[in-house]
Amino acid sequence: MLNYLLHFLFPRTCGHCHRDLVSQTQNPLCPTCFEQLQLIVPFLDSATISFAPQNLYCQRCGIPLPHGGAHCHACRGKRFFCDNIRSVFLFTPPLQSLIHRFKYEDRKSLAQPLGEWMGSAFKQYPELQDTEILIPVPLHAQREKKRGFNQSHLLAAIHSQNTGLPLSKILTRIKPTPPQVKLSKTQRIENVQEAFELHDTESIKHKKVLLIDDVCTTGATLEECARVLRRKGHAKKVYALTLARQI
Ligand SMILES: [Zn+2]
Ligand SMILES: [Zn+2]
Repeated sequence: MLNYLLHFLFPRTCGHCHRDLVSQTQNPLCPTCFEQLQLIVPFLDSATISFAPQNLYCQRCGIPLPHGGAHCHACRGKRFFCDNIRSVFLFTPPLQSLIHRFKYEDRKSLAQPLGEWMGSAFKQYPELQDTEILIPVPLHAQREKKRGFNQSHLLAAIHSQNTGLPLSKILTRIKPTPPQVKLSKTQRIENVQEAFELHDTESIKHKKVLLIDDVCTTGATLEECARVLRRKGHAKKVYALTLARQI
C-alpha cells in the first residue's frame, strides 16, 4: 500500500523512454530499454540482454573485439601508463540517457543502481581483482561546484561500499579543461595535458590503483591521470573502470 501511495505521489519513470516504472523496481530503466543495454562482459540476470562474447575484448583498452585477438589496432605494440581499461556497457542510447540525467539533471539517486552495475561488472574482470585503492577521475573545482557533485566520485563511493576498497581523493584537476566530447583525438590529448595534480605522493606508492570514471571515449583523460599516478605517486599498476565505453 505504501509503495502504491509513494508511486502515486512520486511516480518513477524510465530513465530513457519516460514510461512509468513498476513501483517496486530498483532498475532505472523499463524492461524494453533495459534489454537495449549492451554489456561488454555478461553479468546481468537477463537472457535477452546482448553482450560481446566473454574475453573477446582488447586486453589493454577493453573494447570488444568480436573477431578475437589480444589487442585492438590502437593498442598494439604501444606502451601506456594506464595498464588496462575496462567498462561495463557500450555507450548506447538507454545508457546515454541515464548518464545525461545523472550528470545534468541532478539525479544523484542514479549513482546507486549505476554504481551497483559497476560493482557487478568489476567482479567479472579477473585482471582488476588485485586493486588496492579506488581513485575517482576528478572534476575541476569550478565545474564540481556548478554541478554540485562529481559523478565519478559518487560511483566510486558506491563501489567502495560494495567492495570494501578504500577511496582516495588525492588526485585533483588543476586546469579547467573544456569537455572532451566535441574534441578530436589529438585535441583531447592536448586538452588534458598537465591538467591533474597529486596531493600526496606517499599513499599510493607501489600500490595497484583503480581509476573510476563515468565514460571512456579515447582514454586520453585516464591515460593522463595514470601518468601522474605513476610518475609522481609511483603507483605500481593503474587500472581503470568506467560505466560506459564509447567506440
Ligand atoms: Zn524505457
Ligand atoms: Zn585496445
